[in-house]
Amino acid sequence: MTSETRISRRNLFKAAAAVAAALGVPAPAAAHGRGHSDKHREEPRDLVLVNGKIHTMDDRNSVVREVRISDGRFADVGRNVSEGNAKVVDLRGRTVVPGLIESHTHFVSLANRPGYHVAQWELATSVAEVQAALAARRRDVPAGQFITAMGAGTPRMFAELRLPFLVELDAAVPDRPVFVYQGGGGPARTNTLGKQFFESLVDFPVAVGADGSIVTAAGVNNANRALYHLRIRQSFEDKKRSALDAMAYSAQVGVTTNLDQTLVALATGTLDPASLDPQPTHALFNLNHYRMYDAWLALHAEGRAFVRLQMNFLHNQGFIAELGAEIEKQLPELRERLKNQFQFFGDDMLRTGAIGEWAAPFVASTSANQDGYRVWLEAQRLCAKARWRNENAQGGSAGIPPNTANIEQVVATYEMMDAEMVAAGFPDGIKSLRWGLQHSDFATPEQLARLKALNCAVSMSGFRWLNGVPRADNAPLGPLFPQIIASGIPAGLHEDGVHIAPHNPWFALHYASTGLNVLGQQINTGQQITRQQALHAYTRGNAWYLNREDDLGSIEEGKLADLVVLDKDYFTVSDAQMRAIRPIMTVVDGEIVHDTGALRGRRDWDHDHDHRHGGR
Ligand SMILES: [Zn+2]
Repeated sequence: MTSETRISRRNLFKAAAAVAAALGVPAPAAAHGRGHSDKHREEPRDLVLVNGKIHTMDDRNSVVREVRISDGRFADVGRNVSEGNAKVVDLRGRTVVPGLIESHTHFVSLANRPGYHVAQWELATSVAEVQAALAARRRDVPAGQFITAMGAGTPRMFAELRLPFLVELDAAVPDRPVFVYQGGGGPARTNTLGKQFFESLVDFPVAVGADGSIVTAAGVNNANRALYHLRIRQSFEDKKRSALDAMAYSAQVGVTTNLDQTLVALATGTLDPASLDPQPTHALFNLNHYRMYDAWLALHAEGRAFVRLQMNFLHNQGFIAELGAEIEKQLPELRERLKNQFQFFGDDMLRTGAIGEWAAPFVASTSANQDGYRVWLEAQRLCAKARWRNENAQGGSAGIPPNTANIEQVVATYEMMDAEMVAAGFPDGIKSLRWGLQHSDFATPEQLARLKALNCAVSMSGFRWLNGVPRADNAPLGPLFPQIIASGIPAGLHEDGVHIAPHNPWFALHYASTGLNVLGQQINTGQQITRQQALHAYTRGNAWYLNREDDLGSIEEGKLADLVVLDKDYFTVSDAQMRAIRPIMTVVDGEIVHDTGALRGRRDWDHDHDHRHGGR
């Protein structure tokens, strides 16, 4: 028996309340959403924030005290802002930054999680904190329903370097089944009620160990089987609830816009549509990539979606032998996509992107798989001909010198496509299409200059902190942040959540500015950038990556009103404190969508607000 299991239940729940508050696990019936009900029409529609340290991230890095928001946009920034006919929030000196933008995430997967999911577990630093987050969630979960925590979390994030055992999950939640699933493909753990459920299944039985472990055995990934059984029991209403919970978590950590990069889309959809439905072999990152947006789309239609989403389309069809050797017969899904989908279509809250994070699986030109390479190359060409935006995800690999051959292939191919398009009668080649390179860790100054000349951008990996370990020769694991920033190419920064890494952007900002991994070890020696540069990448850099730099990424008059009020001053607190930043208020489209209450009890509006809601 471990020390954790000896925590008494009374002490656990006392601790749970405090830790859950710190992790921000939602209270029952937490209010979220946009717009005003008719009943509240008389409330002022404008929002004024005063007495803050508002980092606008404009071209001069201006810091102002006040902003006024009107009709979802910044109407007045910084100078004698009128407080008339507005809700007024006294920031009491807090630091404010633009809403963060994530340029590479698989966030729609989080919005599809089965069970009452606890995204906040990725903020936990110990088994006890995971227990507390699960216990806090228990309050609004009906009998018989699963509490789940999936993806992102790995043992390296917890002080014990392991997931909770069955007895610990029972201690946290004795009266609801619990399912904890690590990363994109398991393993998983469950509690006693979960074990009883999984062991009762006849079709595709799930083996559960005495300690609650659900692992791969005899060639069967039992964690994925367990996931399957939860997925096939999800109703559409369940998916809408999960999507709202995912949005609430994004707002809680300050990410107001997400560029989703699909998942590892299954290659078989055009040949065997039924294979996209939940299967016992599907991992967490496999979903039906045509239907996975449905719940979010429904919420958006109802006016209930409250963080912004842009949807890129990943295509994972490589060479498919049964289609024949002719290249015209390959890539059926990408061809249909480019014919039948609009890119950058939608509104300010929800819109399509284009191709990302890849159009076809990358195959090196030197590979023995020449059919695979031909298909990858053809995918690049199809995007160029369709005048679509296109991305590839290549980081290169650490070594002395770093191996950048894959990046070189991407850059050279983009140059080739540019030349082909010029020859085909498009004078700007691919330059107006704004193609991208995801990860880009070891891109050389020369490669970056060539990409920049093609009007391309990069988005830098911010997730190496999770699984990176120091090299014996102390060489950096990347990204080589300073040389990417110095190149002047538009550069974003991403976590690439929600399977291989958390969604929380403050971990990536910490890594970019410190080089420290989750265990506090230096893994990116000499490759740090300033906090200002890192935040610029997570706001304006990522806005470019979404083709939205005119609307998002900074607090400037006329731009969409997304901002985050922080509990600590990002620019001055210690590195350890900066990593633990938690927004106390998040505004999207001029609406407060996350509010811990830390700023309550000031100004007329707060009084009226509390009064109207009867002390909710
Ligand atoms: Zn990704």
